[in-house]
Order: sequence, then structure tokens, then C-alpha cells
Amino acid sequence: MIVGIPKETAAGERRVALVPELVGKLTGAGLEVLVEPGAGEAAGFLDAAYVEKGARLDGDVLARADVVLKVQPPSAAEIGRMKPDATLIGLLSPYGNATTLNALAARKVTAFSMELLPRITRAQPMDALSAMSTVSGYKAVLMAASRLPKVFPLLMTAAGTLTPARVFVIGAGVAGLQAIGTARRLGAVVEAYDTRPAVKEQVESLGAKFAELPLQTADAQDKGGYAKAQSEEFYRKQREFMGRCIAAADVVITTALVPGQKAPVLITEEMVQGMRPGSVIVDLAAEQGGNCALTQPGQDVVKHGVTVIGPLNLPSSVPFHASQMYARNVTSFLAHLVKDGRVQLDLADELTKGPLVIHQGEIVHEAVKASLK
Ligand code: NAD
Repeated sequence: MIVGIPKETAAGERRVALVPELVGKLTGAGLEVLVEPGAGEAAGFLDAAYVEKGARLDGDVLARADVVLKVQPPSAAEIGRMKPDATLIGLLSPYGNATTLNALAARKVTAFSMELLPRITRAQPMDALSAMSTVSGYKAVLMAASRLPKVFPLLMTAAGTLTPARVFVIGAGVAGLQAIGTARRLGAVVEAYDTRPAVKEQVESLGAKFAELPLQTADAQDKGGYAKAQSEEFYRKQREFMGRCIAAADVVITTALVPGQKAPVLITEEMVQGMRPGSVIVDLAAEQGGNCALTQPGQDVVKHGVTVIGPLNLPSSVPFHASQMYARNVTSFLAHLVKDGRVQLDLADELTKGPLVIHQGEIVHEAVKASLK
């Protein structure tokens, strides 16, 4: 069975779905690995390194591969080159993505979307969402630090004492916790808030303060550990209570998301106006519409003296390590699907069924199907 690694073609994408050090994991399982020339170059992995580890280079991997490992959803042209009955594993952004999914279904490709893996213990080595959020949380702090007209740490110098920057993190999930840790390592004073009270201890263990807001969040978390949506009245109160934390901050990093929904707006223009000039907001929820009312996805906006950054695809800006982690995620998932050198699907297994979007020419994932109507 041939596993193909095409070069990513989406604009700005620098990651690759397989790194050389993991080629051996696949060949060791009896699979042949074909890599498109230049596939890993933007991430720092040269063709020769793949070949040295046992892969072959091929100019048309899509046409030859039984299993295609990708980062971004394939384009119409890429789908047109894939073998019918091939298996595709990637970050397919499946919700509402009718064009791609219908084309894959028409091509009879079996498609797995890494975003849909259940977040169960067995799936941890395959958890691409967490891996990519880790990179985003880290990079968000560096972006903020490079735009802030202040230093992060407390510095006592002959020219006087510089007070540390104050960072407020909204949403202490995977990205938020990484942002907290990174900001602390740079020497900032960090405060954070999340609707899930369960994360208070994790926030404190990183040396940050958990903002205690007088909000009732008893039923904030679902079985999978994700936040549940709150009422508009709740968000109104949250904005009101968080006003103090935001006005006191030099940097605000927002990561608040509720799965399958538009991001809640937690920072209004008025709240931005209340911040000190020069302050920076990095809105990691930009791809889902943003947590700040002024966020323009993919752009930097400067208003009321405050810079609001709405980055898209931050993991691609750290392509070496993002690819390394993602490659571990996809190869672990592929190893789960392969038995005796072939993909064999056990649809009774939630780890197989959870991320399965298209099977035998049909879109089979219920929530994804509902999002296409
Ligand atoms: P996410 O990206 O969906 O959300 C980011 C954070 O925003 C979450 O912590 C959420 O509680 C928070 N949030 C939502 N609305 C908010 C609001 N109004 N104000 C403040 N914060 C708000 O979540 P994620 O980071 O991908 O994961 C969240 C949790 O899922 C983890 O912390 C963990 O408990 C669980 N998880 C479990 C596994 C596993 O393998 N078992 C793996 C990854 C994550």
C-alpha cells in the first residue's frame, strides 16, 4: 500500500503532513512512502532527508497513493487527481465545507478529518487540535511581545526599573495555557479567565492568577471537557466583570471557543477604548469570527491606540515543529487504521468512526452533514 505526501498548495501553508524521522514508522509497518519533491521544504525538511529514511520521490503522488496524508483540505484539482477509493487523512475543516466534501464523495475517497477525533485518552497521540493549539498559544505571545512598546519582564537597570507587562488570557484551554506559560517565561504578570472552573488550578500551577468573576458557571463543561455555550445575558455580565482585567492589561490574548459555534464576542469596542494606548490584543478566535468586536480575521487593526491582531493559521508560521507534531498525530492515526499492511476500518471503534467524514461515496458524519444543509 502506497502512502503519499503531496506538497501543500493552499496559500501561505508551510507545514507538511510527514517529516523524515517518521518515514521509518510507516515503512516498518509494510507501507511504501512517496513524497512529492519539495513537499517539506517550507518547513525545513529537504527531499534528501526523506529519501535517506526510505521514502521515494514522485512528481504525482496523488495519482499513485492509496492513502494521502495532508495538512489542508485538498483543492478540486487535487481531488481530481486522487485514486478513486483512496483514503485521505487531513485537517479538512469539514463544517460547512460542502464543495470539498461533495467532490471527495463523488470521487469515492474515504476521508478522515483530524479535527473530529474524539478527545479520549487513546486518541491523545493523534490529537492534532491540541498540537496545533499549543503552537498557536506560544506564537500569539511572541506576536504580542514584538508589537508591544514595552518589555515583558521586570528589569532593574542603572537607567531605572521597568515594571513587567501585564497579560490577560481569556480561555485557558490548550492554546490559553500555552500562552500563559510562554508569557510567564518572558517575565510578564499573567491573569486568566475561563468559564470552566476546572482550569483554575492549572492556571495557578503556571504561576498566573485566575480572575474570579462573580459569574455562575456550574454547568460550564460537557463530557468531553469542552466549554458549553452560555446565554447572551451571561456574556453581557462576563464583559462587564472582565472590563477591569482588560483595562489593566498591556496584552490580551483571547482563545475562547465553543465547539461548532461562532466565537463569543467578549471584548467590545468600548472596552478596547478603555485600554492604555500601545496595548495589544491577539485574537486566536479570529478564524471563528473573533472574541473582540474589532477583530478583522487575517489583519492587524489599530484603533483607539490599541493593536488588534486577528491571526489566521498560526501553526503554519512555526512550520518545523508544527509539522513534526502533526506528522506524529497523523502517523499514529494511520497506524490505528492499518492492519496487515492495509487500511481496515472497524466502524464499531469510536476512534475510527469519530473522524470519518466520507465513506463509500457518502458523507457519513452526522454533525458535518447537518452543517451542510
Ligand atoms: P477550545 O479551543 O474549544 O476552547 C478554548 C477555551 O475557551 C476552553 O478552555 C473553553 O473553556 C474556553 N471558553 C469558552 N467560552 C469561554 C468564555 N465565554 N470565556 C472564557 N473562556 C471560554 O478548547 P480546547 O483548548 O481545544 O480544549 C478544552 C478542553 O478540552 C481542555 O482543556 C481539556 O479539558 C479538554 N481536552 C481533552 C483532551 C483529551 O485527550 N482528553 C484533549 C484536549 C482537550
